[in-house]
Amino acid sequence: MQKIIAITNQKGGVGKTTTAINLSAALAEAEQKILLVDFDPQANCTSGIGVEDDENRRTILDAILEKCDPNDTIIRDVVPNIDVIPGDVGLSSLEADFTKVTNKERELKKVLDKINNDYDYIIIDCPPAVGILTVNALVAANSVIIPVQCEYFSLEGLNQVLNVVELVREVMNTKLKIEGVLFTMYDSRTVLSKEVVNSVKDVLGENTFKTIIPRNVSLAEAPSHGKTVLEHDSSCSGSQAYRKLATEFLSMNEGE
Ligand code: ATP
Ligand code: MG
Repeated sequence: MQKIIAITNQKGGVGKTTTAINLSAALAEAEQKILLVDFDPQANCTSGIGVEDDENRRTILDAILEKCDPNDTIIRDVVPNIDVIPGDVGLSSLEADFTKVTNKERELKKVLDKINNDYDYIIIDCPPAVGILTVNALVAANSVIIPVQCEYFSLEGLNQVLNVVELVREVMNTKLKIEGVLFTMYDSRTVLSKEVVNSVKDVLGENTFKTIIPRNVSLAEAPSHGKTVLEHDSSCSGSQAYRKLATEFLSMNEGE
């Protein structure tokens, strides 16, 4: 059964896109068929995984605006086992337009329902905001992964994400689950990183991934080459961490 996962946190720069790309890469390496959907106007995910800039390419925005069949926006095998639907800077005006009208929370779900291929996982990279785009992603998703950077202010933002997930679950998507909070950019030399992990675990317990993503320079470099970290530096600590995350993720999802 195909499962849809939104990678979300309204806080910027916490590792959403890095996780969307590299969890996809590690799942693809484990023979899972992935569709990566870039639902952020910044479109970092699209360039980061190596989709060439092309003015004529169709994007998730074209599919939402019904300018084309959603299947025609898919770029096949950007990386073996990973197909991509590109993001679009125009998503930001969509955010503004949709906010003015009601009943626009299901547009992404409608698009994904029309996708013909059967993927093992569809992974949605969300923007750093709790607007209508993120709500669309949460309505379309079966579960969410919430990357949290190991620094003090992350804790305050976390409550806000959890509240939004809860709200969408109550009102629009009763089956929405929290796959897990994922600690990112962990620095084992700092007391603060450890404190952040411990205090979130105290509150959330089971809802945190055991795998923790370390701060690793190859993870930051890889997107500038349009590569996943597994392609850029297969044995670095970042690659190892995302492989471990994929294994943990797959064991949680076994038999579902
Ligand atoms: P935005 O909210 O703007 O979409 P984001 O949550 O998607 O940001 P990323 O773009 O994944 O965050 O990461 C922010 C920056 O931190 C990027 O420059 C990225 O390369 C870097 N980065 C992410 N994770 C790591 C890591 N584990 N180690 C080192 N650098 C990282
Ligand atoms: Mg991002």
